[in-house]
Amino acid sequence: MSRAAVHVGLDQPLEIRDDLEVAPPQRGELKVRIAASGVCHSDLSVQNGTIPLAPPMVLGHEGAGVVEEVGEGVVGFAPGDHVVLTFVPECGECYFCRRDQGFMCEKSAAQAAGGMLDGTTRMTSGGRPVGQMAMCGTFGEVTVVPAISAVKIDPDVPLEAAALLGCAVQTGVGAATHTANIRGGDTVAVLGCGGVGLNVIQGARIAGAERIIAVDMVDAKLDLARRFGATDVVNAARANPVAQVQSLTEERGADVAFEVIGLAATIEQSMQMTRRGGETVLVGVPRLDVVLNVNPAFAFIYTARTVKGCWYGSANVHREVPRLLELYRTGELMLDELISREIALDQVNEAFAAMKAGEVARSVIVF
Ligand SMILES: [Zn+2]
Ligand SMILES: [Zn+2]
Repeated sequence: MSRAAVHVGLDQPLEIRDDLEVAPPQRGELKVRIAASGVCHSDLSVQNGTIPLAPPMVLGHEGAGVVEEVGEGVVGFAPGDHVVLTFVPECGECYFCRRDQGFMCEKSAAQAAGGMLDGTTRMTSGGRPVGQMAMCGTFGEVTVVPAISAVKIDPDVPLEAAALLGCAVQTGVGAATHTANIRGGDTVAVLGCGGVGLNVIQGARIAGAERIIAVDMVDAKLDLARRFGATDVVNAARANPVAQVQSLTEERGADVAFEVIGLAATIEQSMQMTRRGGETVLVGVPRLDVVLNVNPAFAFIYTARTVKGCWYGSANVHREVPRLLELYRTGELMLDELISREIALDQVNEAFAAMKAGEVARSVIVF
């Protein structure tokens, strides 16, 4: 039996159940004992329906742990290996993987069904199937994942820090270092300084941006943004953030602006604070009814705009995780500092509340 936090219905608190049966791994799969899992805004988005995934489902898609059992046909993993789990599997063989776009791997399509690559789940509760978010389900003590969703890491990396690589770090740092085309000396603006936004900020620093303007409505988050590399901060609750960014950039706008919230208003602002010929990168996950407005088309063309969607930091996980850990070792990438609080599984609903209130960068469940 495994203990897990289960999404049971729209806007209902997650249920902590201790009766989950986790089946052995099938061909190409790994059973993993989770050591730590980040609590991400996307978990909340499943609970509130922004990301439509059917309950019951064990949430959590940002975890790290230790391999317990290896399914048939899996090479390169053995019991005892430390792994980071990723919410996009990367098969290395499909059309997208062969074109260096592992973040678009065709195998991830099966996620919508809430199970493994074949659409079925390995978890049951009282004999009834329970889904696993993003083929992971890291809000549980034990899970089964496709081996292509796991990346082996050195055992000396703390698993609490490693867990964050699976979503927030890869998405945020990747947005700045892969999706965007930041040049040395650039000025960037980052709207939203939560777990992912802070990683966009440190990614921009790593990419060589000279000025990094952090935009948020919470002063505590702006203080944190400075620690991660922001050179200027703008509190959007006090004055129009577009006007403030314009005035910090000689009325030009930022070379690159990142939207890391996912609201119609902030998406609009992120485009307005991008300079002519610059790039706007959309990272935050909006509700399905949010529309991207680039009218009038003439202005879009005349100002030579680029608006880019960023999915999973445009990264190839099997290369990206080792690269990020190298940056962690050299001190360029801050991971431990992202963890606002370590919590027990039972406190996951409180962690959701803290996230809604904008109080934390990341809560990490430690098993
Ligand atoms: Zn996430
Ligand atoms: Zn693939």
